[in-house]
Amino acid sequence: MTSRYDVAVVGGGVGGLLTATRLAAAGRHVVVLERNADLGGKLSTRTRDGFTFDTGPSLLTLPALLDEVFQQAGTSLADEVQLHRLDPSFRYFWPDATTVTFRDQPIATAEALEAFSPGAGAQYLAFLGHARNIWNISERTFFAGDMASPWSLLRRLRSPRDFTQIDALRTLNARGKKMFDDPRLQQWLGRYATYSGSDPSRTPATLACIAAVEADFGSWYVRGGLGALRDAIVRVAQRAGVEIRTQSEVTALEATRRRVTGVRLAGESITAPVVVVNADAEHLYRDLLPDAKRLHAVQQTERSTSGVAVLVGVEGRTPLIEHHNVWFSRDYAREFNDISANRVPSDPTIYGCVSSVTDASQAPAGCENWFLLINTPSDDTINARDVGPWMLEQLAAVGPDLRDRARFAEVIGPRDLAERYRSPGGAIYGTSSNGRRAAFRRPAMRGPRRGLFLVGGATHPGGGLPLVTLSSRIVTQLILRSHRQR
Ligand SMILES: Cc1cc2nc3c(=O)[nH]c(=O)nc-3n(C[C@H](O)[C@H](O)[C@H](O)COP(=O)(O)OP(=O)(O)OC[C@H]3O[C@@H](n4cnc5c(N)ncnc54)[C@H](O)[C@@H]3O)c2cc1C
Repeated sequence: MTSRYDVAVVGGGVGGLLTATRLAAAGRHVVVLERNADLGGKLSTRTRDGFTFDTGPSLLTLPALLDEVFQQAGTSLADEVQLHRLDPSFRYFWPDATTVTFRDQPIATAEALEAFSPGAGAQYLAFLGHARNIWNISERTFFAGDMASPWSLLRRLRSPRDFTQIDALRTLNARGKKMFDDPRLQQWLGRYATYSGSDPSRTPATLACIAAVEADFGSWYVRGGLGALRDAIVRVAQRAGVEIRTQSEVTALEATRRRVTGVRLAGESITAPVVVVNADAEHLYRDLLPDAKRLHAVQQTERSTSGVAVLVGVEGRTPLIEHHNVWFSRDYAREFNDISANRVPSDPTIYGCVSSVTDASQAPAGCENWFLLINTPSDDTINARDVGPWMLEQLAAVGPDLRDRARFAEVIGPRDLAERYRSPGGAIYGTSSNGRRAAFRRPAMRGPRRGLFLVGGATHPGGGLPLVTLSSRIVTQLILRSHRQR
């Protein structure tokens, strides 16, 4: 059997669905093919015994980017989901029992920091000025188009000053030391490297802009959990006319020497002059369109970190926690050295999301839905079933002891991520941002044949919901420019 479309999208992750929506809104006949029974890719949920957990993203930043796609499809994000701007945004804990709470307004955060560490309030505000500038420049340069070569970026710079101001030659750690006297706040800034699964001692200081984005544009939650966002993305795609097929694994791309012609599924071929691959680039060049040169290039880039997550249904209420919490390790350098050496960190930083703090629908009355996450190497041989219980012990040593109050605990590890989403090693964010050239070494959005495009965390500009949404914007522009409708 053969069906015909203008565009076939391989993978129903956020990047695939948003690109499909944009293209359908521009009049293209689009099909999305997803191998799993569920859509959304890593944006996923688990429900059990009245508890709901977001097993992927739990924090939404820059919702305006998603709103742009929804507007293109004739609706708005606010019409489709109930957005909630979190205040406080995060609570941070250190092993010496000190803690500080970040607020939704920079001034309120600066006051909290001043009480936490004298002098830090002013340092934080000075830092935000610097980080905002990076964001403003990056938005109109790095994020404004593809990265076919360093020239594509250079062309978008207004002057050499733009380049110096994005702070790409310094590491995030070095920037932290320059801006903050207190080592705890240097560690806090380094955490933003993990938003792209990277190491703060190797990530360009450009990533400091994420802290400004959070401070200025907010940390957001979607009522009902981020699964409600996934459902809205699917709904809007379908309303825009996208045809969506689940349990439809693409086994190969069909192509001539010059151009793609479609995709193959078990027992079926789909003809399309444009194929957008939302699956990982390593899977693409190894399995779908074998290409030794490109596969080698992808394998030379460093993968982002993976993680071990524990979902805990907890009885009772835990004092002092917020919706988003971080328990920092004693020594960040050691933690990332462990990860580089392909070991699960012996003293990990633990992220804890308890969305029932904000949204009672996420846990039974009087209970809490704990999602715990540590960074690990992207290595699908890690035995997450052993690491999970150990994480609860580690947390008990520096924060709340959930073990006696746990109704159940489920573990998700790198192998689960690798198998469910075909992300090599269970990498959460595609390729990492480690090193000055990382941004230029991500697999290109334009594939090696005419009509082949990549979208999502494994290509430009990287992983995380906001960047994947930007990826869908950039790739759609490339497609519409090069494949005008006749
Ligand atoms: C534990 C965890 C926590 C996270 N936390 C956050 C957070 O708080 N905030 C944030 O912004 N981001 C977060 N992220 C990152 C975010 O989820 C991802 O960057 C984003 O969802 C990736 O989207 P994507 O479009 O790149 O594709 P993916 O989600 O990787 O989807 C790709 C899809 O392609 C499908 N596929 C692969 N091969 C084939 C094939 N051959 N045929 C058909 N289908 C195929 C896969 O099944 C999958 O559904 C987190 C991720 C994880 C795992």
